[in-house]
Amino acid sequence: MDFDEAVSVRPASLVDPFGRAITYLRVSVTDRCDFRCVYCMAENMSFLPKQDLLTLEELDRVCSAFVARGVRKLRLTGGEPLVRRGIMSLFASLSRHRASGALDELTLTTNGSQLPKYAAELKAHGVERINISLDTLDADKFRAITRWGELDKVLAGIDAAQAAGLKVKINAVALRGVNEDELPQLLEWAHGRGMDLTIIEVMPLGDVGEGRLDQYLPLSLVRARLVDRYTLDELDYRTGGPARYVRVKETGGRLGFITPLTHNFCESCNRVRLTCTGTLYMCLGQEDAADLRSPLRASEGNELLHAAIEAAIARKPKGHDFIIDRRHQRPALARHMSVTGG
Ligand code: SAM
Repeated sequence: MDFDEAVSVRPASLVDPFGRAITYLRVSVTDRCDFRCVYCMAENMSFLPKQDLLTLEELDRVCSAFVARGVRKLRLTGGEPLVRRGIMSLFASLSRHRASGALDELTLTTNGSQLPKYAAELKAHGVERINISLDTLDADKFRAITRWGELDKVLAGIDAAQAAGLKVKINAVALRGVNEDELPQLLEWAHGRGMDLTIIEVMPLGDVGEGRLDQYLPLSLVRARLVDRYTLDELDYRTGGPARYVRVKETGGRLGFITPLTHNFCESCNRVRLTCTGTLYMCLGQEDAADLRSPLRASEGNELLHAAIEAAIARKPKGHDFIIDRRHQRPALARHMSVTGG
């Protein structure tokens, strides 16, 4: 029996102990990245040895097992997903779940640097909307935030994505004293190009060699400042992720807020996260995890894999409790965002 056949006889639907259906899988396909964003990675990161990574075939197999159990949205992330060698072949194979109607969405989060090369191919593989991370439109600040990145390349990536017909959402992390004054400009630029903008609170993940308190800017404050300039109308719009959206009356565009610290959104969490080594995290903000690589490699069939997935979902915690204050200067978790995937 091949593995697609094996999963097709399984009952659908993964529901955790709090009654939340797991319909969204985020997969970090590599821990490597061509940028070194100051809030995400330390400058000298040590990366995983290649043999520890799931192969592209194994990634397909795990993703497909989740799709067979009711996952409707798949997001590839990283590290930078587009620097993983051969990554287009994974998009190509996963596109069969879009074609069959099993998946509502196949998507990715990217820093945009490789999009001039890959945008058209992504579109051809059934990707419709993508998230591109961009915190500033100032080239010097961009370099300072990303340490290694070039703004022009990312802007060319955004052009390429839009030219290929991909719908783009910009994700910006709100950074105290860095881009806080620029957020209105970023908003008007994104909306002017027909792109949604989501602003994200910095989360205390991984030791990045800088104080979190220096970076942290509560979105309650960002929002209060935006309300002085714009009319923000609440929207019911949801993308299956944690963002809460408003319509900005003056621009006509959508603005999202992801606020893990000032307001956690765990009650509606529908997500789990797989690392590139096959470790499943049931919560971004908790340490508990399940090894899926061993059951995956232990047999050609998917029985062991499904049993491990079920056991993991049965342990999904109620929520996270990130804190950034003067007493909690250390990361809440040792894990970097580039490991679990943002
Ligand atoms: N390389 C891709 C990118 O840049 O979008 C995908 C991976 S990156 C880890 C995904 C997202 O996580 C980015 O938007 C990044 O800004 C965000 N991110 C990374 N570390 C974060 C942190 N500590 N707090 C909040 N967001 C973070």
